Amino acid sequence: MNKVFIQTYGCQMNVADSDEMFAHLAARGAELTDKLEEADTVLINTCTVRDHAEHRAVSFLGRLAAWKKEKPGRVIIFAGCAAQRLGEALQKKYPFLDILSGAKGIEHFAQTLDKSGLFSHQDHPGQTPAPGLTGYVTIMRGCNFACTYCIVPSVRGPIKCLPVDDILQDAARKAAAGAKEIMLLGQTVNAYRDGDVSFADLLNRVSEVPGVERVRFTSPHPIYFTPQFLAAVKDNPKIARHIHLPVQSGSTKVLQEMKRGYTREVFLDKIHALRACGFNISTDIIVGFPTETEEDFRQTLSLVDEAKFFIAYCYKYSPRQGTPAAEMKQLEQKVLEERLDILLNKVRGLSDAAYLTQVGTVQEVLMETPHKGRSSGNFWVKTSKAHPVGSLVRTEIERADGTLLFARD
Ligand code: SF4
Repeated sequence: MNKVFIQTYGCQMNVADSDEMFAHLAARGAELTDKLEEADTVLINTCTVRDHAEHRAVSFLGRLAAWKKEKPGRVIIFAGCAAQRLGEALQKKYPFLDILSGAKGIEHFAQTLDKSGLFSHQDHPGQTPAPGLTGYVTIMRGCNFACTYCIVPSVRGPIKCLPVDDILQDAARKAAAGAKEIMLLGQTVNAYRDGDVSFADLLNRVSEVPGVERVRFTSPHPIYFTPQFLAAVKDNPKIARHIHLPVQSGSTKVLQEMKRGYTREVFLDKIHALRACGFNISTDIIVGFPTETEEDFRQTLSLVDEAKFFIAYCYKYSPRQGTPAAEMKQLEQKVLEERLDILLNKVRGLSDAAYLTQVGTVQEVLMETPHKGRSSGNFWVKTSKAHPVGSLVRTEIERADGTLLFARD
């Protein structure tokens, strides 16, 4: 039996891609191991969104030289976004690398394995792990935007939506294997369309799959949240009331230079409309984009005040080679660090405040352990009684303590 050790970097899409790649390896007789020393194959699924993520993946590859030398028959697969960006230069630098499979090649991963001659179909396929409570379902790949700081369009290419029937089958398989919650994944997930099936239609259809109690999605783009979307989903309680909606900056000028496709005002309008339908909103913010002035940064701080996010993940701008923003004159690191500190101080109390708003409300909690689960709005809830894992418990929230709610069940 070929034992495979998987190291995944980056986003949830990469986690889903690693599962998909492993399914092809399992069809060729492989089984998973979490011990590198007993593995015959290592699959590194990489991320290139930040320099740091790419660097970690490449250093891990470098460290595998000794592992491979121990048993030269061992196989190393380097896949995903960094593999796409770095390409064959990597194979030259690390000649012991056996298979390079870029992010655009995920659909052809099975053929890549066959072409390598290192794996062949087996009568007794290996076991793929059960999905757990959340089943991740990729619905689209790529992105049609060209945000000036982002490397994704060049490594993943333009949008390709998967057929709706394939998505429903994938969701049904995961629900049958025990998933109660389906997380739909895509780089601009709410741009999804297959013929006349819109993203809102897809959400409603996935929510009807037997066994599915809740549907989540990530990462959406603000411009696709239209009044039609809201009208189509507002009465469906299975569509989770939490959206992670990256804003990136509070300054319209910077948003235009980032080519985000919306203004500060449009973004705020969208979140007010989403909030009116009960959605709880978290976000991503970049500080220190090359053209960001002190005034632009103040605009970001004031947007945080106005938007009342649930959580804001804040990052320093990191130039990615090959993107337009990397060619611009960069701000000093000291400025980036100061602004990040100020922003982090501002966002620190956001979650506690959001948790307090839940006290006195009635919530449906999907139990992840006998005493703890998550509400539709993605708040952690502790119950006093024990409940079966995977059950939905309707209960009133009695009090909040930091980022934990206590239920009166
Ligand atoms: S929308 Fe912009 S930031 Fe998001 S993946 Fe596409 S190009 Fe990158």
